[in-house]
Amino acid sequence: MNKKTKWLSGSLVIVVMFMALVISALPRQSTVNAGVDNGYYGKKAKYVFFFIGDGMAMPQITSTEIFKGTLTSDNPMNQEKLSFTSFPNLGMQTTHSSNSFITDSAAAGTALATGHKTDNDVVGVDPSKKIKFKTMAEMAKEKGLKIGIVSSVSLDHATPAAFYAHEGSRNDLYEIGIDMVNSGFDYFAGGSLLQPTGKKKDQTNILDIAKEKGYKIVNEPDAIMNLTEKDGKVIAFRNDLAAESAMQYDIDRQDKTSLADYTKKGIEILDNPNGFFMMVEGGKIDWACHANDAATTVRDVMSFDNAIMEALKFYALHPNETLIVVTGDHETGGMTVGFAGTKYTTAFSMIGNQKLSFEEFDKSIKNYRETVGANDANLEDWLPVLAQNFGLTEFSDFEKNRLQESLSASMMDPKKRIKDEHSYLLYGGYEPFSITVTHILNQKAGIGWTTYAHTGVALPVYAQGVGGELFGGYYDNTDVAKKVMSIMGVEFQQ
Ligand SMILES: [Zn+2]
Repeated sequence: MNKKTKWLSGSLVIVVMFMALVISALPRQSTVNAGVDNGYYGKKAKYVFFFIGDGMAMPQITSTEIFKGTLTSDNPMNQEKLSFTSFPNLGMQTTHSSNSFITDSAAAGTALATGHKTDNDVVGVDPSKKIKFKTMAEMAKEKGLKIGIVSSVSLDHATPAAFYAHEGSRNDLYEIGIDMVNSGFDYFAGGSLLQPTGKKKDQTNILDIAKEKGYKIVNEPDAIMNLTEKDGKVIAFRNDLAAESAMQYDIDRQDKTSLADYTKKGIEILDNPNGFFMMVEGGKIDWACHANDAATTVRDVMSFDNAIMEALKFYALHPNETLIVVTGDHETGGMTVGFAGTKYTTAFSMIGNQKLSFEEFDKSIKNYRETVGANDANLEDWLPVLAQNFGLTEFSDFEKNRLQESLSASMMDPKKRIKDEHSYLLYGGYEPFSITVTHILNQKAGIGWTTYAHTGVALPVYAQGVGGELFGGYYDNTDVAKKVMSIMGVEFQQ
């Protein structure tokens, strides 16, 4: 080797070493998805709010804004914006899971919390169920941030679970509960647990295990509101919850603790010099959409928006250190603004006449079935109720026939009902009379539904604050997680 080639090979080694250094210094996430930049290089966000409206996509958002408009003005074209639709940054995320274009909340939650695709039903692990995906909340905790998880549904439900649990199935509820108390996260609030003592109710209560691990369990409304950061790690939920250990639908809530109350309290408890990460789920938007109940849906979107406003108050005090991201995990119900029967018109003020959720209305139908019974059931008995609770006073013959048919179906013992295609398409497994009433009301208002499950459409992602500009564009739900991680200063793990 002569002098010249020696010099050349020497400098080549230096160049290669330099390149290797440059490549290793690049944030990994910026190279994961071609065309999508998930790398944030500015000052990291100290406070991160991740709001997930379960089942909330553009139709739920637009419907709520039209509905809100009916509350403040008689002008039928009035619309009132939700707080987050004024955020300066907007993007779109695709939502498919690794095995379906129609994701469930477990796979979508896993994508949003970890940046990884997995199959429907799977929480925080890969489809083979062998590899655990680290969540952004776990990473943030390792970095010294305090962590809060708030949901209007039970804390072991798929979306909250996706931030702390690693289980093969979302139905492994006891194991998910164990993962929850092992997470060491600082604040859990909203709903309680679906199976605190396991499927057979023969295991140690998860809340007792939580106490051993240093959690304070708080159930009294005043005690919840009096919590401070001095109380340490907390699990807060009221004992007067609705079905399935979830909070009430907002339309039925009355003066009970709201999602905004739990969010505000979370901010007080989590605020500390190292910063915090808080995930807040509006979990019952999804449930109301599964049941095709628009009035209950828009009230829950408004309640979710109230929780976001608490984050905005905090943001106003720390604008250069806070990131707020608001999105959904998938659309539910195939909801839309527009129905064949109402063509180019809508009448959203009609859903404002509904005074209770389908779930509460189901209770009076059950009571009627058990006291009056199939033989004496009469639609006439229900007309004052429909006027009072739904504002429904006029029906076409077609609608009357549907009410009659569904009332008869509701008078059958739920265990003996025919579960054929016809009845599924009409009622989706819900209380036939109840869902027919909300279908008729929604259709009169110009709101359509296509399914009792989820749909596969893309969703909007709204962002405000530190790194918010990263959320512009069209990307995958896994990119949402990678962006948040990057802005929070934690590293996405392959
Ligand atoms: Zn969901």
